[in-house]
Amino acid sequence: MRRTFATKSAALILLSMTTAWLSSATAAETDPLVPQAAQPYGDGLLAQLRRAATFVPGALPVELRYITVAESHRPRRVVLDGGSDESYVQARTAFQLVYDDSTLMIDAGMDEEVHRTFGMGAVEPYWPERNAAVQEALVAASLVVITHEHGDHVAGIVRSPNRRAIAAHTVLTKAQVETLVLAPQSPLIRLTPSQAADYLVIDYARFHPVAPGVVLVKAPGHTPGHQMVFVQLNSGTEYLLSADVTWTLDGVVDLVQRPQATSDRIREDRDALKLQIRWLKRVLNASDVIVVPSHDSVHLADLEGRGLIVEGLTSD
Ligand SMILES: [Zn+2]
Repeated sequence: MRRTFATKSAALILLSMTTAWLSSATAAETDPLVPQAAQPYGDGLLAQLRRAATFVPGALPVELRYITVAESHRPRRVVLDGGSDESYVQARTAFQLVYDDSTLMIDAGMDEEVHRTFGMGAVEPYWPERNAAVQEALVAASLVVITHEHGDHVAGIVRSPNRRAIAAHTVLTKAQVETLVLAPQSPLIRLTPSQAADYLVIDYARFHPVAPGVVLVKAPGHTPGHQMVFVQLNSGTEYLLSADVTWTLDGVVDLVQRPQATSDRIREDRDALKLQIRWLKRVLNASDVIVVPSHDSVHLADLEGRGLIVEGLTSD
């Protein structure tokens, strides 16, 4: 006990000394303890992600699939700053990467009770049989990762009848767990500390490979534990699952965030989001990487039509 305390104090002293030395520069630019933070969302990041995608040995995934378990119908002005009154369909999705002999799930769907919390009083489309397919896929997956700790992405691993079995192969980040335990979006998705211990909890600086062809990319802003997922398929097709950095691809193309009022309601960090959106736009312009926001029903249908994503999950 005593030794742990001593070590901690020494680390704190070292940290404060480091901070003092670097007072003229931001820690993110120069902190030697966090070398990957040298260029947050810099031009070299995509090359780093491509290298990191090869770090976990094994055959790359062969296809990306998705399923829509529910929809929210909102005016575009709630989704995009300066948007019109025109109605926009936000798909509530989960994604699946298919390998030759296994699957990896990205996000976890939600049960109908959690879905109702997003309706703001309105009854909106929900497909229980599709969420059942997500549950089946979560149990069968070799690995589950979660883009962020909001109910429509995480409820399926928190409120499942198979929670413990799924938790045993689910990776959560430290920031995601902290939110779920201390300040969940809704009491329905709160984790107790002892439940949290059932998951594999990780922390990383900027990006982290978790499976062949799959790299997590830290992107706090929409929530503290928000991350994107870079994917490289065996065919060479690459995706950046940008989760909720923007709700539509238009947000990236036009460099437009959610309106201030929506950001205030979510309590998101607009400065952080601005950097992330700019980087996504540079990726779009400078590469063939397919940027996939979680909720853009129009873009997902377009990708499906072009054979770049498959609708429906496999349980093989
Ligand atoms: Zn979302």
